[in-house]
Amino acid sequence: MKKQGDTIVVNVRHVSCDGGGGELGHPKVYLDIKEGTDEILCPYCSRHFVFETPEDE
Ligand SMILES: [Zn+2]
Repeated sequence: MKKQGDTIVVNVRHVSCDGGGGELGHPKVYLDIKEGTDEILCPYCSRHFVFETPEDE
């Protein structure tokens, strides 16, 4: 079964993705979730990174 569209919640705006290896693996790339947006899609493997503001302590 082909995996596609994994959603990964992160709390930093600068993320890296290498596809996790295997079928969808690809050279590591860095993606920036721009200010004013809260998500980005990896152009290589379609992973969906969702930015979530860290909770204040
Ligand atoms: Zn990727």
